[in-house]
Amino acid sequence: MGKGGKDKGKGKDKGKGKDKGKKGGKKGGKKGDKGKGKAQVVVEPHRLEGVFVSKGKDDSLVTRNMDPGNSVYGEKRLSVNGDGDEKIEYRVWNPFRSKLGAGIVGGIANCAVKPGAKVLYLGGASGTTVSHVSDMIGPEGVVYAVEFSHRSGRDLTNMAKRRPNVVPIVEDARQPQRYRMLIGMVDVIFSDVAQPDQARIVTHNASFFLKNGGWVIISIKANCVDSTAAPEAVFAMEVDKLRKDGVKPKEQLTLEPYHRDHALVTGIYRAPKKKKDE
Ligand code: SAM
Repeated sequence: MGKGGKDKGKGKDKGKGKDKGKKGGKKGGKKGDKGKGKAQVVVEPHRLEGVFVSKGKDDSLVTRNMDPGNSVYGEKRLSVNGDGDEKIEYRVWNPFRSKLGAGIVGGIANCAVKPGAKVLYLGGASGTTVSHVSDMIGPEGVVYAVEFSHRSGRDLTNMAKRRPNVVPIVEDARQPQRYRMLIGMVDVIFSDVAQPDQARIVTHNASFFLKNGGWVIISIKANCVDSTAAPEAVFAMEVDKLRKDGVKPKEQLTLEPYHRDHALVTGIYRAPKKKKDE
């Protein structure tokens, strides 16, 4: 894609199937399409680096596919003409299937997950969002994806075989010492473990792997932390825990309407000074 420019090309849909969401290339063509049967797809860079928008009746968030020709979870792919003969493929990112995707669509101001970033991703599951992070960070970046379920970890590992910038780690994120030899220092920790002690899990990992001044991005599911309290109160409590352990909050946004009673919180980490007797 020419930097900052619009890409035009044809829609293509070879996702594995069930996704009946928006489509980049409509069938049937439109005015000026000379009856070729497919409308052109226009892709523009998003305000945030590493993500793009496919323009249409409804705009869709897309990432540039690191593994052209393949979908990861049945998502749609769009092909557009790059410079010269080059074709560029994008994958549609459904915000209903991803907290980070919902945060971007919802207007997050800053996103440390960007081209070249080193990311520690806690709660990788089968790799739906991890795959878009892999697209966003590109070949210069790396995403270490930690997932403790062996079943999901298998899918994650298979996906990583086709994406050299993904390092799957099938481990418990509460035990970072078990995987510390696999990970270097990172620029950002993204967490979506949906656990009541998530704040502690994140800052514990930060103390091992996050550089000073690095970012944390956390998806908080209110009823995973306290199902009896009001979501806003839970979010405030979680932000407070992060603050006590060295995270200066920068942004908080709701993930409605995509994920009910969820918030995305970002902040900057500075390792707390150790007391002398520690
Ligand atoms: N982020 C994923 C995505 O968008 O594709 C979805 C994550 S899902 C909400 C939460 C995941 O965190 C589950 O797959 C669960 O197995 C994993 N998880 C929960 N606790 C964990 C822990 N202590 N260590 C590693 N993974 C954990």
